[in-house]
Amino acid sequence: MGLAQRLVDMMEGYSKALYSSFYLFRNYDLLLDCGEGCAARLDRHQFRARWIGISHYHHDHSGGLKGLFLARAYTKGSNDRPLTVLYPDGSPSMNRLRAWLERDLPRLPFPLEWIAVQPGYRLRLTPSETRVPIVLQALDARHFARERCLGYKIVETRKRLKPAFAALTHQDIAHLARTKGKDALTEQFEKNILVYSGDSAPLRDEIVQGADLLLHDATFLSEKDREEPGHASVEQVLALSTRAQVGGVVLIHISHRYNLRAVRKRVPQLIAKTGYSGPVWVQWLDRRELLSPDFSPASVARQKK
Ligand SMILES: [Zn+2]
Repeated sequence: MGLAQRLVDMMEGYSKALYSSFYLFRNYDLLLDCGEGCAARLDRHQFRARWIGISHYHHDHSGGLKGLFLARAYTKGSNDRPLTVLYPDGSPSMNRLRAWLERDLPRLPFPLEWIAVQPGYRLRLTPSETRVPIVLQALDARHFARERCLGYKIVETRKRLKPAFAALTHQDIAHLARTKGKDALTEQFEKNILVYSGDSAPLRDEIVQGADLLLHDATFLSEKDREEPGHASVEQVLALSTRAQVGGVVLIHISHRYNLRAVRKRVPQLIAKTGYSGPVWVQWLDRRELLSPDFSPASVARQKK
């Protein structure tokens, strides 16, 4: 399961569509969305968040900001730790929320920065001297036509062998590296690590291509339950993840018209139908469950024999 499992291990999350959604990645100090009750549920982990990416203004994604600011100001912890909030540029409702919070909040003991961002906006999370730059990038989500909605992703700049040298043997490559220098053999590329859809119809393949972990809106267990275009179905997410060679998937925002038993039964069927071969988890309220039968502890033990 590799990096997908490691990222999931770093994640604190909550998902109940229409009520509240938030996902903290402790390793990136990154909080994705901040639905109601976020600070209460994250408890001491709330101080971990240095960056917040708000996907859109809907209350279940933004309604916990005020509570989080107050908890960081008044509860025991790193009260002076700066906080930067990214939110969709050109969203009148988000602007109103920000204005209300700025007017209504007391003087905070930490620097609070708001940045209105558009798809493609990039923020470097690692200090510039770090060898591997880690960048948070805003992306275009397809949720709600009237106001801009975003997703976010973490990308790393990496080096790889130039395709022209791909057919060479190890010895040839070592020889070239000695004579021409390593830099002549390699090229930089951007690797998608973690992609978050926010609320969205399926993201475009190229946005998620090769991501180690995808957190994607999976509102509908069945396409026939669809009432609106601005969300994805589980099957669409698994098909996207197959095409885009995603390492692992966390299904989020599943509608609570279903119960967890129905989710546990249906998702493995859809994994088989789409042929998706990576691990699949579901975030259901505050619990996260692995639903892909091939990655269950019993199955992994069997494969090792
Ligand atoms: Zn929404």
